[in-house]
Amino acid sequence: MTYLSDAVRLYIDQLVDWDSYYRWQRGGDVDVDAERAALLEVLETAASVCSEIEELAREGWHEAARLEDGEVVYPEHIRQGYEKLKEVGLISYGVESRYGGFELPGVVENVIIQMVARADAGLMTIIGLQAGVAEDIQLYASDELKEAWLPRFASGEVMGAMDLTEPQAGSDLGAITTRATTRDGKTFLSGNKIFITNGGCEVHLVLARDDSTFEESKGTTRGLSLYLCPRTRADGSKNAVYVERLEHKLGIHGSPTAAIRFDDAEAFLVGTAGEGFKAMLTLMNTARLGVAAQGIGIAEAALAAAVRYASERVQFGQPIGQQPLMKNMLARMTLDVEASRALLYRACRLVDRNRAIEQALMRSAENDEFSEAERVEMEEHRQANDTRVRLLTPLAKYMATETADEITRMAIQVHGGIGFMAESEVGKLHSDAIITTIYEGTSEIQVSFALKEIGKGALAAVFEALEAELASFEDERLREYADKVKHGMKLILDASSALLSDFSYALMSARSLAEVVISVICGAELLKQAEADPRRFDLAASWINRRMNDLEGRTARIKEGTLARIERADKIIDLVRPA
Ligand SMILES: Cc1cc2nc3c(=O)[nH]c(=O)nc-3n(C[C@H](O)[C@H](O)[C@H](O)COP(=O)(O)OP(=O)(O)OC[C@H]3O[C@@H](n4cnc5c(N)ncnc54)[C@H](O)[C@@H]3O)c2cc1C
Repeated sequence: MTYLSDAVRLYIDQLVDWDSYYRWQRGGDVDVDAERAALLEVLETAASVCSEIEELAREGWHEAARLEDGEVVYPEHIRQGYEKLKEVGLISYGVESRYGGFELPGVVENVIIQMVARADAGLMTIIGLQAGVAEDIQLYASDELKEAWLPRFASGEVMGAMDLTEPQAGSDLGAITTRATTRDGKTFLSGNKIFITNGGCEVHLVLARDDSTFEESKGTTRGLSLYLCPRTRADGSKNAVYVERLEHKLGIHGSPTAAIRFDDAEAFLVGTAGEGFKAMLTLMNTARLGVAAQGIGIAEAALAAAVRYASERVQFGQPIGQQPLMKNMLARMTLDVEASRALLYRACRLVDRNRAIEQALMRSAENDEFSEAERVEMEEHRQANDTRVRLLTPLAKYMATETADEITRMAIQVHGGIGFMAESEVGKLHSDAIITTIYEGTSEIQVSFALKEIGKGALAAVFEALEAELASFEDERLREYADKVKHGMKLILDASSALLSDFSYALMSARSLAEVVISVICGAELLKQAEADPRRFDLAASWINRRMNDLEGRTARIKEGTLARIERADKIIDLVRPA
C-alpha cells in the first residue's frame, strides 16, 4: 500500500464532481482536467515527502518536545519533517492564493493530513492545527489581521494553536473562565488553558469569556468570544503568554502539549463579540475531519505493517497470512479502513461543494452570473448539504478514530510477541492512535452530537441522497446489494422514531445508532466506489453482508429498549462501586 493509494486516485479521478466544483468556485471557463492533474501532482509530491518523513519519525518516536527557558524545542524529526513540508509549500495549504496559499479543496487537504499522519502522527497535529487556525482567521478575522498573519501561515513562518480546554472545561466548554477585558480600546486575556497542542507557537486562537457579560453567561457557551493572541506584540516585545509546562504522554511524543497562562495578554477579536463559540465550531469541525484523516493515516500504516508481517512470518510451515483466521482479520481491518475513508471523503466532498456554492452566490450577488431560479436552487442544495455535513462530521471522526484504535491493536496481535516489544512499529502506532478518540471531542461527544442532529431531522436529508444513489445502479450485482442497504435504512428509521421519544434512553443508545447509520452510509459509498472500479465490489459486498447482520440486531435492541435499561446499568455498576 503506497502513500498515494488507488482509493485516493479513484476519488480524484472519478468520484469527485470537479466540473460543478470549479464552475461554482471560479465561474467562467476552467480547464478541469488540468486542475485535476495539478491536484494529483500536489498529492504525488506530498506522498514522496511523507515517505521520507516516515523513516525519521519511526527512529525518533520516543523523542519528546521539551521546554527550555519557557520556549518549546521540537525534536529533530519534527523539525526536519516540518522543514521538508515547508520546502514544497505544503503548510496551510487551504489559504487563499491572494495570501500565498494553494487554496486546496478540503478532500485534498485531508488526504495530505492522512499522509503526514501515516508518516508521523505527532507532526500531523502541528500541520493540522496550522491549516485549521489559518482557515478560521481567513473566515472570520478582519482584513487587517488576515493581511498580517495569513501570508506568514502560508509560508510556514508562523505556527498556530487552538486554546479551548481549561482544567474545569474539557468536553463542557460552557465552563470556560478565561477572561477578556477591554481597556482603552484594547483587549487583554487572563486565564489558564491546558493540553494545548503546539502551545509554544506564535499564534493562539483563544476562546475567552467577555468581562462585560461574565457573570450572566457563566456556565454557557454564550458570552464566549474568539481572540487571536500572538506571543510577540507588534512592537517586537513579548506578549504575556507563558508556556507553563509540557505534558508527558502515552503517544504523539513529538507533538508538544502545553499548559498556557495568559496574564493580561493583548489579544485581537476574531469575528463578532459573543459569537466565538460559533466561530470556534468551524475550526473544530475542520479539525474533526482532520483528526479523522489522522486516524486513517495511522490505521493505514498499521495495516500495511500487518499485511507485510503476515506474508513474511512462517509458522506451521506456511506464512501466518495463509491461516483462515488471519485472512479474516486482515480483511476486516482493510474493510474498516476503507469504510472510514469512504465516510470521510463523502463528508469532505459535501464541505467542498458548499464552500464552492457560497463563493458562487457571493460572486453572483455582484455580477448576476446565475439566474434567480439557479440561485434559489443552489441555496436549497447548500442548506441540505449543511444538514448532511453536521451529521457526517461527528460520524466520520468517531468512525475513523475508533477504527485507528482497533486496527493498531489488531496489528499488534498479527505480530504476536514481537508486536508487544518496546520498539515495535505497530506498538508505537497504537500508542499514537489512542488520543485520536479523545481530542477534538471524545467519541462519546461525537455520537451525542450525531444523535442531536438526527433528533433535528438530519437523517431525512442524508437518506434522501442515499436513496437517489442506490436507485441509480444499473449493474445487477450492485442493485442486489443496494436493496440490502435500503432495507437497513428502513430498519433505522423504524428504530430511531422509537428512540427519540426519550432523550436519556436515546443518549444511552447513541453509539449503536451511530454504528448503524455509518453502516448504511458507508455501504452506499462503497457501492459507488465499486461502480467506478469493479475490483472494489468484494469490499462493498463484504462490508454490507457483515454490517447489515449487525444492523438487524442493533436496531431490534434499540426498538425494544426501555428506560429500565438505565436503571439496570446503575445496578450493575453498583456491584463494583466502592462503599
Ligand atoms: C494530547 C492532547 C492534545 C490536546 N490538544 C488540545 C488543543 O490543542 N486545544 C484544546 O483546547 N484542547 C486540547 N486537548 C484537550 C481535549 O480536547 C480534551 O482532553 C477533550 O475534549 C476531553 O476533555 P477532558 O479531557 O476534560 O475529558 P472530560 O470532558 O472530563 O471527559 C472524560 C470522559 O467523560 C466522557 N464524557 C464527558 N461528557 C460526556 C457526556 N456529555 N456524555 C457522555 N460522555 C461524556 C468523555 O467522553 C470521556 O470519556 C488535548 C488533549 C490531549 C490529551
